[in-house]
Amino acid sequence: MRKIQMVDLQSQYTFIRSQVEAGMNEVLSTAQFINGPAVKSFQSNLESYLGVKHVIPCANGTDALQVAMMGLGLEPGDEVITADFTFAATVEVIALLGLTPVLVDVDPNSFNIDPNAIVRAITPKTKAIVPVHLFGQVADMDAIMAIAEKHNLYVIEDNAQGIGATHTGSNGNTTKTGGIGHVGSTSFFPSKNLGCYGDGGAIFTNDDDLAHTLRGIVNHGMYERYHHDVVGVNSRLDSLQAVVLNEKLKLLDYYNERRKWAAIRYSHLLSGHDNIITPKVIGNCDSHVFHQYTLRLIDSDRDGLVQHLQNQGIPCGVYYPIPLHAQKAYQSGKYDQENFAVTNQLVKEVISLPMHSELDEEQIETVCQAVLDFLG
Ligand SMILES: *Cc1c(COP(=O)(O)O)cnc(C)c1O
Repeated sequence: MRKIQMVDLQSQYTFIRSQVEAGMNEVLSTAQFINGPAVKSFQSNLESYLGVKHVIPCANGTDALQVAMMGLGLEPGDEVITADFTFAATVEVIALLGLTPVLVDVDPNSFNIDPNAIVRAITPKTKAIVPVHLFGQVADMDAIMAIAEKHNLYVIEDNAQGIGATHTGSNGNTTKTGGIGHVGSTSFFPSKNLGCYGDGGAIFTNDDDLAHTLRGIVNHGMYERYHHDVVGVNSRLDSLQAVVLNEKLKLLDYYNERRKWAAIRYSHLLSGHDNIITPKVIGNCDSHVFHQYTLRLIDSDRDGLVQHLQNQGIPCGVYYPIPLHAQKAYQSGKYDQENFAVTNQLVKEVISLPMHSELDEEQIETVCQAVLDFLG
């Protein structure tokens, strides 16, 4: 059996090696490292894939979120509502821009931001909502878009974990995540569902004016050479990363299918145990692309299981062990523990098993056997 890994980028590489090497050699020989043809073609390939009008490539997923918020013209003092249970990047950029992060609780079944908690957190200062499609599952976008419309708020989708997932709205329309809100962002960090071989990210929008603004912001606020109309940043995707992304984008649906297959096998082998809650897929079967396969362990020794798996050479992860409202950097007197009942519980219960497109049946059975052996 191949060694079980949390993500297996080496095995994935062997299938695309010759194409990636040829593309990289082309970049090296033409020396168009920044904004070369590979970046342009990736931009348009991703626009077609997602069905969004504009993709703005940038340096990483954190920049993508920051630039999205800058482009919307959010200003210090504006409140931005996001989930307490997510990766810190989401709240980090809100704070960096001098905006006020307002963390709210999540839904215990989907792990995603709870629309009722959003409604309770809205004040006259609220300007935007940032739903995260956590672990690859689409947030409750029908409810979120309706709340945003009613209160005149922007919706910024953090799609770093959800690329390739689709959402079928109550109107029957099917849209890829990242193109549902006013603006969306993603990350091409190597372990993401669409990852490059370094850092990378992108912003998405269907709004022509906003797209124009965003393209200037990622390029030092420059719309005409050496005319700096707004304060911008330097955030670019480089050509070598675009070569990798162009190859992997062709396979993204296949990768996501393989992840779903692995998730179905895991859930088949683990469901029925009293102490395990397997992940729920809410919505259609394409609404979850399993960036992570995350179990909840009920009345069990989660940290003991982590240790047990590690002792057997099986990697696993705890995403996330500390709620954002309890992080030193984001603590503020305003948070009331009662408002985070779900997140406070989830951080004690969750464990993510190895999940990637190269998992095979034998590996999955080995992982499940180890989990069941420990829980008894
Ligand atoms: C990975 C991730 C980011 C940040 O992306 P980077 O490319 O690492 O900057 C932001 N939000 C979420 C939910 C993520 O998982």
